[in-house]
Formats: sequence, C-alpha cells, structure tokens
Amino acid sequence: MRIGVIGAGIAGLATAARLASLGHEVSVYEANSYPGGKLSAFWLEGYRFDAGPSLFTMPQYVDDLFRAAGEDPHVHFRYNRLDVVCHYFWEDGTRLHAHSDKEAFAAEVEQQLGVPAERVGAVLADSAHKYGVTGRIFLEKSLHKWSTWADAKVLKAMLQIPGLDLFTSMNRVNERLAKHPKLVQLFNRFATYNGSNPYKAPGLLNIIPHFEHEQGAYYPIGGMHAITEAVYELALRKGAAFHFGAPVREILVENGRAAGLRVGEEELPFDRVVSNMDVFFTYKKLLPNARQPKRILRQQKSTSALIFYWGIKRSFPELGLHNILFSEDYEKEFALLEAGAVSDDPTVYINISSKADPADAPAGHENWFTMINVPYNSGQDWDALISRCRAQVLAKVSRMLGTDVEPLIACEDVLEPRTIESRTQSHLGALYGTSSNNRMAAFMRHPNFSSRIRGLYFCGGSAHPGGGIPLCLLSAKIVEELMAEEMAS
Ligand code: FAD
Repeated sequence: MRIGVIGAGIAGLATAARLASLGHEVSVYEANSYPGGKLSAFWLEGYRFDAGPSLFTMPQYVDDLFRAAGEDPHVHFRYNRLDVVCHYFWEDGTRLHAHSDKEAFAAEVEQQLGVPAERVGAVLADSAHKYGVTGRIFLEKSLHKWSTWADAKVLKAMLQIPGLDLFTSMNRVNERLAKHPKLVQLFNRFATYNGSNPYKAPGLLNIIPHFEHEQGAYYPIGGMHAITEAVYELALRKGAAFHFGAPVREILVENGRAAGLRVGEEELPFDRVVSNMDVFFTYKKLLPNARQPKRILRQQKSTSALIFYWGIKRSFPELGLHNILFSEDYEKEFALLEAGAVSDDPTVYINISSKADPADAPAGHENWFTMINVPYNSGQDWDALISRCRAQVLAKVSRMLGTDVEPLIACEDVLEPRTIESRTQSHLGALYGTSSNNRMAAFMRHPNFSSRIRGLYFCGGSAHPGGGIPLCLLSAKIVEELMAEEMAS
C-alpha cells in the first residue's frame, strides 16, 4: 500500500519506520531541509546545541520502535540513565540535587529542606498509583475507538478516575502530600512538562514525576538529536523514501477518502495519508474545504518557550545537565502566563549538554540552553519582551550563581514562539499542542484518525496522546494499530 506522510518530526519518522517495516511503500514529505522538526540540533561557533527537547524520559518507547521494526534497539541508539535528574536552586541559597534513586532523593530533600523523607515517598507513591490505573488507557490506546472501551480493564480503570484527583489541581494535591512550599513548587514544576499550569491542571497529571523518578531520566549518547538520527536512519533502512524541502500544499480527498497529496504543482496518489503536521494547520492549510472539528481546533494552546542558546566561556561546577532556578512566586508566574504575559522573575531552566558530552563545547567552556516558559503567541510585542526577559534572566542567573554571566557569553542564538511556529508549523508556537489545564483535555485532543475522511491519520504532539517525545512515539504506534484494524475490517 502507498502511504504519504506529511512531516518528518519525531512522530512522522516513527510512523514511517513502523509502516515501512510492515512492507508498505512509504513516502515522507518534509518542508524543512532536515528531519526531526523540533527535535533538531545546530552548531554555533564551536558549541553544539539541541534546538528543542532536552529531557529524555521513557526510552522504552524508542526501544519498542526498533523491536517493532525487527532490530536490536541498542545497536544504533544508546543512552545512559542519569544519577541526578535535576539540580534545583532557590533565591534564598537553598540547593538540592534530585537523585533519580527515590531513597537518595528523599534523603536529600530531608537534608536540604528539613522535610521528612516520607513526604517524597507519599508523592511518588501517589504518582505511581495514578500511572498504574490510567497510564495505559490515556497514553497507549486510542481514546476514540469502541474497541478501547470494550475492554473490561479499561472500564474498571475509568470508574476509578474521578477519585484520582480529577477535580483537584496538581498544586492542591502537592500541598496535601508534600506540604513544604519548596517541595510543592518542585513537584508543581512537572505541569510544565506538557505546557500546563499546576494551579489549574488536574491532580491526575501528577503521574508525570513517576516517569522521571521511577522510570528514570536518560541522556542519549550523541545528544537529544541522536534520537532523530536513529529513527530517521531506521526508517531509511526499512525503505521509507524522504523528500526534503517539500512542503505539502493540500490533502487530496475523493469520495470522502484521502486519495493523495499535492506537493508543489504535483498531485501524488496515495492509499493512506498520515499527517504529522500540527492538527490546526492540517485543517486550515491542507483541508480548507473540509468540515473542521471546531471544538478541537479552539482548544487552549500549551505554553511556548523563549530560549537563549549561549556559548559560555567558563565552566560552572555547581551546575549539572538539567538545572532549575526557581522564581519566588510560582503562582503569579503561571497566572501571568495564562494572561499572555511573562513574570519579571521567571523560573529559569538551564540545560548544559556539555556536562554529559564535553565535545559539545570548546575545552573549559559550556553550552547553555537557557529557557523560560512564555505564553503562546497572541500578538505580544516579542522583540520588546525578549529584550526585557534577557536582562531579567541574566540578572537572576548572575545573582543566584554569584557571577556576572553576560561577559561570559561567547555567542548567542534565540528561539521564541514566532520562530517555533515558522520553523515547524506549530500553531502559535505552542510546544505541546493543546494545554492539559482542562480536566477533559485528554479527550479533547484530536484522535489519531479522521472520522470524516477515511484513510486520513494523525500523529505528533498536537494529536492524541499529546506532546513530548515519548507520547509522539506512542502516537505513531497507535496509528500503526488503527491502520491495521482498518485494513483488517
Ligand atoms: P514537530 O517536531 O512539530 O515536527 C513537525 C514537522 O512537520 C516539522 O518538521 C515541519 O517542518 C513539518 N511540516 C509541517 N507542515 C508541513 C507541510 N505542510 N509539509 C511538509 N512538512 C510539514 N519534549 C520532550 O519530550 N522533552 C523535552 O525536554 C522537550 N522540550 C522541548 C523544548 C522546546 C523548546 C520545544 C520546542 C519542544 C520541547 N518538547 C520536549 C516537545 C517535543 O519537542 C515535541 O512534542 C515533539 O518533538 C513534537 O514532534 P512532532 O512529531 O509532533 O513534530
């Protein structure tokens, strides 16, 4: 069967690898000149930067993809588990190393914050329980097929969901279990892993710490971009054909069925089409005459990001691979994001891949990926905002590290909502598609198939089960399963 895939983001690559390994004739059309979409990398004056994602969790889904394609996962792609998943810093001088090992993490919390170790245990047990009940349903299956709901185990789990803090915010749950303000802030931070607001998002999302502290955080050998390279090469080995610099202009529909793609002036026939393009733009740009799923397209977007890529002319031993420098008023920070603004004191995340791989920066130097959460683009004066935020980020980092950082910057590049949108066609520059602030958000993402146009499928961060590399990989798996189901019927 001939299958056309629109976009070579990580989900498009994974879908291509899966379908090509089943023997289908897969052609991928990518607007950019390179694969990976957000999961790309670049060099700047001797410093290597991963452009987008920096945190790698749930590596089992990459392994699973290789196995599904009949290959040993660790021949072409390897990764190491991190001992310390994050280094946390507060303005009052408190510092904490969050160990991957739960006991070591709890002991560190007790030592640095004076919080009984059991509180960490209580939060992580709650997280593990929520994951155990809901993980497989919400992440690994289509929520939009009767076959999912016909399973007795799924129905039983669904009945338990309202009791899993669906009607309570993440913050409330963390206040109940962690109690100490700094520990609450630390666990609230996990809402940002899908661009949400912990003061609004349901406590059910407290499954997220489970991924980092139970299943672990990892660093791919070769950097985050090694994930793109490995999956792209896998798809090539399985026979998928890639066309770069080839933006798709239209999905051709005949008699209610996806029949092909218009690429440039050419009309290319396909038996099935998979869109890895943001769902919003798939409808608006490629299917302008089709009936639009208005409620889905109107969903609130996730937050975006402002990133300063800085080559830094010295090393900071107190920093690790992942570092968080917290704001003083976390609730206000998120309230401002909701209102489309940025706090004067934003929480700063610094990722330094040269800590894991010194070749990513000149000797004695570091490559800082310095990021703050910003709202999605709703027409703010970004040039003014970026220059204000740059000054505030530099002041905060310099204050908290006790070193004037600006003179240490050897080179700089910037990524912001407008360029996130223009480089990857992500609506309004949202990092993770729609936000998860609404308790029904999981059901409001676009399904992995179209119910109106037969033979049209969706994968990637704006479709079910959501944004982030692991979920994008799962969307590819669900597309493969749905297509197999459709063909069998
Ligand atoms: P995308 O990466 O969005 O790619 C879509 C591709 O489709 C693009 O290459 C685009 O050019 C192409 N395309 C679009 N329209 C067309 C068209 N008409 N024709 C042809 N091609 C088209 N996730 C994590 O797991 N961990 C993190 O630490 C993390 N941090 C992040 C930090 C940043 C700054 C960003 C931006 C994202 C981050 N994410 C993180 C989220 C993660 O990057 C995304 O969820 C994931 O990479 C999205 O992949 P995707 O397959 O949906 O496609």
